[in-house]
Amino acid sequence: MKVPFNKPFTIGPELENIAQAVREGHLSGDGPFSRRCHRWLEERLGCRRALLTHSCTAALEMAAILCDLAPGDEVIMPSFTFVSTANAFVLRGAVPVFVDIRPDTLNLDEALAARAVTPRTRAIVPVHYAGIGCEMDALMALAARHDLVVVEDAAQGILAEYRGRKLGAIGHLGCLSFHETKNVISGEGGALLVNDERFVARAEIIREKGTNRAQFFRGEVDKYTWVDIGSSWLPSELVGAFLHAQLERADAINAQRLRLAAAYAEGLAPLAARGLLSVPRQAPEGVEGNGHLFYVLLPDIDTRSALIAHLKARGVHAVFHYVPLHSSPAGRRYGRAAGELPVTEDVSARLLRLPLYHELTAREVAAVCEAVGAFFRS
Ligand SMILES: *Cc1c(COP(=O)(O)O)cnc(C)c1O
Repeated sequence: MKVPFNKPFTIGPELENIAQAVREGHLSGDGPFSRRCHRWLEERLGCRRALLTHSCTAALEMAAILCDLAPGDEVIMPSFTFVSTANAFVLRGAVPVFVDIRPDTLNLDEALAARAVTPRTRAIVPVHYAGIGCEMDALMALAARHDLVVVEDAAQGILAEYRGRKLGAIGHLGCLSFHETKNVISGEGGALLVNDERFVARAEIIREKGTNRAQFFRGEVDKYTWVDIGSSWLPSELVGAFLHAQLERADAINAQRLRLAAAYAEGLAPLAARGLLSVPRQAPEGVEGNGHLFYVLLPDIDTRSALIAHLKARGVHAVFHYVPLHSSPAGRRYGRAAGELPVTEDVSARLLRLPLYHELTAREVAAVCEAVGAFFRS
């Protein structure tokens, strides 16, 4: 048996689209395929404006600029997340304030977020772990009370829903990832979703090196010039061409991952019933996942290490996830923890992600479950 943790895939005319883009001679950003991706995201997710970027990291960096932060301003976020969530804001001189997660969803605890607000707080960054939506109604109400910007890190959340709305299209800004480990992929890739009208014009400007190029091409201004800070965040048309083929099949991609995740939950149910491990609980009311990842929680870190080694010896690559940012060297230097983070510390030591990718088969899932069962029998 050889089951990698992830495997990049094609599902439609990715390569034909790239060949067409080359033939048509538009290889720089925002060509016909990229514009089709923008339209797809705007229509399917319901955001005001979608802009492709090189990565979710790049989208978060753009969002951090749009938050207009001064050095020492605070940004509330979970510690249980990828480094880019925090790094984007540290680059602007802001201080990440790390808040604990809820034990049921592993998402930012909205009650603790409310307690972490200070006069310096400017933004909140909910991270939708595993494509399961954060408690957005409570977080948006909190932001409204304190005049904060909400930037959703929806890197894992494509087409997943919270109370009928798509993740990334609920906060003032949202960030998606199309990295090859996510559901819909383009190798590296991402998008900034602008949901609040007041950020649209500036988002276009900072993405195009601080120029008003987009307005110029629409005939809205008669000169194209440098008007703000910015960088080059738009991806090549080759990325847009690949991505468009995947976006058009995003529902099928998510459906397949949800089937595989359900197969894991079923296959591991007997072990969970005996208390040997736990599988994710049912998503909260009104929250629809997208099968982004499947994890189990083991009793302790030693059991996890032993299980990783056991699976590796059988050709199965299972991996743990985040080292909490508040305990990382840079997290300690640039951020601070809002009190103790017991759930983050507990969960990050016991969580194990099992292989989950588009081309994984039900038989392979059954074999992985069998290998996990064998570990507990031995
Ligand atoms: C993958 C991921 C990112 C980074 O995405 P890139 O496209 O690789 O930059 C950021 N945040 C979270 C929560 C992620 O899962």
